[in-house]
Amino acid sequence: MRQSQLFTKTRREAPKDEVSKNAQLLIRAGYIHKEMAGVYSYLPLGLRVQNKIRQIVREEMNKIGGQELIMTSLQRKELWEKTKRWSDEAVDVWFKSELKAGGEVGFGWSHEEPIAEMMKNYVASFRDLPIYVYQFQTKLRNELRAKSGIMRGREFVMKDMYSFCLGEEDHTRFYNQSIDAYTRVYERLGIGDDTFVTFASGGAFTQFSHEFQTIVETGEDTIYINREKKIAINQEVLNEKTLKSLGVSREELEEVKTAEVGNIFNFGTQKSEDLGLHYKNEKGEQIPVWMGSYGIGITRLMGVLVDKFADAKGIVWPEAVAPFRVHLIELGGDNEDVKREAEELYRELESAGVEVLWDDREARAGEKFADSDLIGIPLRIVVSEKTLAAGKFECTERASGKAEHRSLSELIGYLS
Ligand code: ATP
Ligand code: MG
Repeated sequence: MRQSQLFTKTRREAPKDEVSKNAQLLIRAGYIHKEMAGVYSYLPLGLRVQNKIRQIVREEMNKIGGQELIMTSLQRKELWEKTKRWSDEAVDVWFKSELKAGGEVGFGWSHEEPIAEMMKNYVASFRDLPIYVYQFQTKLRNELRAKSGIMRGREFVMKDMYSFCLGEEDHTRFYNQSIDAYTRVYERLGIGDDTFVTFASGGAFTQFSHEFQTIVETGEDTIYINREKKIAINQEVLNEKTLKSLGVSREELEEVKTAEVGNIFNFGTQKSEDLGLHYKNEKGEQIPVWMGSYGIGITRLMGVLVDKFADAKGIVWPEAVAPFRVHLIELGGDNEDVKREAEELYRELESAGVEVLWDDREARAGEKFADSDLIGIPLRIVVSEKTLAAGKFECTERASGKAEHRSLSELIGYLS
């Protein structure tokens, strides 16, 4: 893509009321637009990053048998009443509205109830199970505080998966597979070493649920970890009983700031019983379906990646999610040879399947470099009179600042 055609511009200052680091950088670099507190639009660069995160998650969910769908955002009051979750006392983040035709609707903050209700149309016998479905969807939540930029939105994208199983054994098998799938997602995003499967409260019939927590200074959560034993416990369940059952002592645990990037939950059969989701077993008996839910905060993850890897100059994307692989910087003013060389390199890279943002703008070198640092694309390649004379391009890694000079064939080899 030619940068001269990109409608977004970088800016020196973020909005005055924006206190979060990720939102400040993302707004300044042109990835997102702040609509109001906790509500952000995703611009072309931001959408590219979001889609890459989605695609990694999608691939891993498909690998464990997930089928993608998309549920509605408007939800029926009656369903949530059946599970006693319609009231604002039970769920403190509801957005609700009234239909002109009469009656109330809720805006989806989560989808367990509607999806369980919907499944009554498709589940009749044991032969129909298990079913694993997931979606990427914009959730709406009336969060009281929205100070962490895209890490806590009032509108945000979540991947939510739901499992419908025959019973506990069937459920546990999938639950463990989902832990592995989630682990692969965070590894692919470059945060595997700093993301912990964390014991948390909740979970029907089981003592714990599991959160996936990533170490990041700006995180809102505090957890207690032991890196060697790969044990992590959140604040709610840090007590004698938990420590004993996990075989660790408090002294062995280190306190760290984290952001919850995902969680998985065992519902047992409670929700199915409340909503009447049953299947017929081999003996013809009606059995309630065993349910689980599995969330990943897609847009929160994007914020975590910004906060975690950014440096004083700007964003530093992990390669797997960067909007482009290469930032091609043309520095030649009116020099026709430089222009031609840059265009040729752009075409070569594109045809080799490398995604390139080509800074073909009329701008000073200093401005181009500052923008490039702010935008955070992993590899910068400079084409100038100097590189033309040398017969090699200047290639600089955004993360390390390491520079090397490469010929076209060396460059293609390096990038593939
Ligand atoms: P938190 O404790 O941070 O409020 P939660 O327990 O409400 O999270 P879930 O309802 O299980 O989270 O949602 C699944 C995932 O969605 C979370 O693990 C998190 O990554 C993400 N998420 C939750 N709330 C938000 C939000 N307001 N903005 C962005 N992402 C969110
Ligand atoms: Mg919450």
